[in-house]
Formats: sequence, structure tokens, C-alpha cells
Amino acid sequence: MLKPAGIIFIAVFLFAGCTTPPRHAPTEPLPPNWSATNGVQTPQIPQPPRANVKTNLPPIVHPTNAIHPAPVITWTALSRWAAEHKIGAPHLLSGQPVATYAIGSTNGVMVLEIGSREAIWNGIEINLGFEPQFIDNQIFLHGLDLQRNLEPLLCDPPLMFGTNRVIVIDPGHGGSNTGTHSVLDGRLEKEFTLDWARRLAPLLETNGWQVFLTRTDDVYVANSDRAVFADTHHAALFISLHFNSAAPDQKQAGLETYCLTPTGMSSTLIRGYNDFWSDNFSNNGYDAENLQLAVRLHAALLRTAGLEDRGVRRARFMAVLDDQHCPAVLIEGGYLSNPHEAKLIESPEFRQKLAEAIATTLQWNVVPLNH
Ligand SMILES: [Zn+2]
Repeated sequence: MLKPAGIIFIAVFLFAGCTTPPRHAPTEPLPPNWSATNGVQTPQIPQPPRANVKTNLPPIVHPTNAIHPAPVITWTALSRWAAEHKIGAPHLLSGQPVATYAIGSTNGVMVLEIGSREAIWNGIEINLGFEPQFIDNQIFLHGLDLQRNLEPLLCDPPLMFGTNRVIVIDPGHGGSNTGTHSVLDGRLEKEFTLDWARRLAPLLETNGWQVFLTRTDDVYVANSDRAVFADTHHAALFISLHFNSAAPDQKQAGLETYCLTPTGMSSTLIRGYNDFWSDNFSNNGYDAENLQLAVRLHAALLRTAGLEDRGVRRARFMAVLDDQHCPAVLIEGGYLSNPHEAKLIESPEFRQKLAEAIATTLQWNVVPLNH
């Protein structure tokens, strides 16, 4: 919904760098937090009903979270958070039809809209856990969004891969698990994901990565085994490759990049599964890195492939991500149910472009946030 492209790159010059919170209280008085503890009523955000069935997913162990408590709701004025993190105050871009704000650091610019979970980071769509609120004439964000979405992008240093350059590439589906199929001729997703991975592997190896594929042939691999495979190979990164379908709709189009939903937030996509906010998977230990990896790959893929931006999204039902012990993302590289995109996906040149976009992003040990 946001169309800030022309504005954000002007706005970037308005913002200062970003640092960790100050040790001393700022001299300027800060606006109050808006939470259940300061006497202001907290908005009630409904939790989905619980059920006992979570098909296709491994059993979830909640050693410290057995009663699934509701998330602590604390809303904070964005201007207060910015002051605490030593970055420039949010800047009102537009008041109509709804207020839109920009906040930036040397890493880039985030554009936020009151009442919308869609936000724009350096020109690409990301999705918040909660809609920004307009309170006391200014923008307030949920504490989890500040912690899990804004801080990793605006304040964290560039993503470092260190010396363990081991990556697991996961061609989606395989064998009896065919995935979706092309609207043009019925060719199967599993074929295209494997080809994408085979093109990507040598490019990454050229860049110094040790690459392992969860499958190198048309065989069935259980989702849980794909996570175990990454553990066994001590992966530093995990990338799962897929193509999308909205059949019978032939119009839906674009690129999506998924990472696991942080604990306490609702997902962008549920696809009929339960979405328990209190679930805490092993991959939640990498929330910040997941997002950093996702935005970089998503931006590079959009630039290279020229697809519509459907955003960096959050989901819990993607079992290949939940149990990973390293930064992990899942890419949906276009719609096989859309005739135009199916034609692209069926072209080897396009799959080569998708591979090159990923390899270029992972070319160096340090990837700048504004890459
Ligand atoms: Zn798939």
C-alpha cells in the first residue's frame, strides 16, 4: 500500500547514524510508553483459538512456556525509541489519507503507516507483527516490532558470516512430494527448485562457500530431515527454494521471502494452520539474523528478477525453518499459477538469474545492510 519510493531516498539524508541505547538518561524529556502499566488501557489483540492438531509439524516442546501466556503488550512512542537508540526522530511524510512516517539511520530508511502492518525498508516491503498506532498525536509501535523488526534493520551492524562458510540449499519438495505445477503445461515445482539449487551451488562454491543440497535428485525428503541435514553439516545458513501457486487464480504474481515469526507476534501467512503466538522454536534464536538475511536476498532477487514485491513475510507453519539452528529463509521465486511468471520460471535463463541474485548477496563475509 505504501508508495514511498521517491520520498525515502530524500529522507535518508535527514537521519543520523544509529547507536546502542545510551547509558545515561537523555536530557530531553521523552514521551511515555503506552502500556498496561501506566494506566492507559492496552488494546486487546485476539489470539487464535487453540486446538490440539497441528498437522505436518513436529510436536512442539514448551519447557518454560507450557501455559502459553499472552504476550506482554507494551507500546512505545517511536520518537522515544529513536532517542534511546541515538537515531533521528521519526519524520511525518504524509498526513493523508493516513499518517505515514519515515525513520532512518545510516543503514537505511523504514517507512511506517498508521494502521498497517506493511512497512517499507529501503524500498522493499516488510511486514510488522502489529499495526502502528496513533496516540497523543504521534506514532507508537509495539515493543516486539521495535525489538524484532526495527532494531535489526536500523541499528544492527552488517551481517557477518564469519569463517564458517557452510551453507545448506534446500530444493523444495521432491519425489512423491511434487509441490505445485505450471499452469502452462503441468511441469512440477520440484523440478524447477532442484534446477535452481543446482545452478546456485557452483556460484556459491566460487565465492568460497561449502555447499550442501538437501537433495540432488528427484527424491522425497521429509521436512524434519531437512533441518537435521543442516545440523549434521553445521550449516551457517539455510535457504529453502520454492515456487508459488494461487491456483485457480492466474493473476496473483510476485516474489515472497519468508522467515520464522518471532515469538509473541502473529504471522503474515497462516495458510489454514494454527498460529500460536507463544510458540518458541529453535530458529527463534536467530530472529534478527533471519530478517537481515531475508531483506538482503529479497532486495537482490527483486532487482535481478524484476518480479512484483510481495514482501518479506513471517510464517510458523514452514517446518523446514522452525527447527533450524542457523539463520534460515524460504524463498518463493514467483507463481507457477500465473502464466507470465510460469513462462519465466520455465526458462533456464530466469532460474540462472535467481541463482545469481542469491550468490551475489552472499559474495562477501560482510554484507552491508543497505546492500
Ligand atoms: Zn513449494
